[in-house]
Formats: sequence, structure tokens, C-alpha cells
Amino acid sequence: MSENSQRRVFVVSGPSGVGKTTIIKRILEGNPDIELSVSSTTRQPRDGEVDGIDYFFIDRAEFERKLQEKEYLEWATVYGNYYGTMFSHVMKILQSGTNALLDVDSQGAMQIKKITRGALFVLIAPPSLESLAGRLRNRGSESEESFAMRMARAQHELSFRDEYDRVVVNDDMEVAIADLQAIIDAARKESVPFIYETP
Ligand code: 5GP
Repeated sequence: MSENSQRRVFVVSGPSGVGKTTIIKRILEGNPDIELSVSSTTRQPRDGEVDGIDYFFIDRAEFERKLQEKEYLEWATVYGNYYGTMFSHVMKILQSGTNALLDVDSQGAMQIKKITRGALFVLIAPPSLESLAGRLRNRGSESEESFAMRMARAQHELSFRDEYDRVVVNDDMEVAIADLQAIIDAARKESVPFIYETP
């Protein structure tokens, strides 16, 4: 077991359509002492996404090699693609004296919860499944099949609600951002070491 007592690790999850990306972006803009952990993924970059900033875009063979070599703190398959957090990347952030924020799904969050101590787990939840359905429909970019898939996945993600330390309900975006900020401010004041098993 090793320990990093200076900085906090924030693990943030939330179903697709809940506004998580916007909330995290605003938190990062307002908190220069928090750095987003850039995940590796095998999915294709979307328009505007930059390798090394949004994700490390790698192929399946490379992801599987890293898996074999136990380079991931956690990993998951989401919609048929691999996603994973590099252990070394999180350590680099913490060792540079910065807090780390990990945007991972509930599968990843539960893995981190199992093998570490001291991280703070936050779930961003919609006020209701109906409101999430409305938001996904408003996006207009979803085919019926993809909509159904995202809703089923959202239900699964939200079923882990009780496993998180805090739940931020995104009814009003500004209130949700303020809620997450308050959670982070309170956590910064606690001196909780981040303890992890070296892979
Ligand atoms: P997207 O493809 O829309 O960027 O992300 C899809 C889902 O994958 C999101 O729920 C996001 O939180 C999750 N995700 C992104 N990076 C990681 C990761 O490194 N590990 C895990 N477990 N999930 C991730």
C-alpha cells in the first residue's frame, strides 16, 4: 500500500445527458488546482476532440497490452469501447501537487472504491428518469435505438447511487455547479490521504 496525503482524488460519474461534461468543465475552469485525468479510449474521436486533451485515443491492441501490463487504475467497456484511467497519469497529477478529477462510469468508480481509500465519489443525477429522457430527446442526435440504450444504461448507472459519497442533482445547472463546488471546497479542507495498492 502507498499513500499520497497531499491531494484529493475526486471521482465523478453520471449518466449520459445529465450535464456532467458541462459541470466538470466549469469546475475545472474555476479550480486551477484540480486537473482532469485524461482517460484512454478505443472509441473514435468526435469532432473537435483532441488526442491527449479529451482522451488518449488508442487502438484495441494497445489498450489490451496496457491491460495485461496492469497499467490501469480502473477500466470499463462502454458501448463496446474500452475506457481506462492510467494509474501513472493519476499519480503524475497528484505528485505535481494538484488534485485529480476522474470522470468515469460507475463500473470504474466501483473498481476505484475497491482498491483505494480516501477518494471522494460524486454521482451527478437527473431529478428523475423522465427528465433525463426529455434531455436526451432534446439533443435530437439520438436514434431510437441509441436512445433506448442510453436510458437503460442510465438506469444502471443510477442504481449505484448509494455507493457514492455525495449525489448532486442537476435540476438547475448553476445550482448543480455550486453544489459540486461546495462538496469540493469541503473535501479540500479534510486531510484524508489517498491510499492505493500499487499494481
Ligand atoms: P464518452 O464516450 O461520451 O466520452 O464517455 C462515455 C462514458 O464513459 C461516460 O460515462 C464517461 O464517464 C465514461 N468514461 C470516460 N472515461 C472513462 C474511464 O477512464 N473509465 C471509465 N470506467 N469510464 C470512463
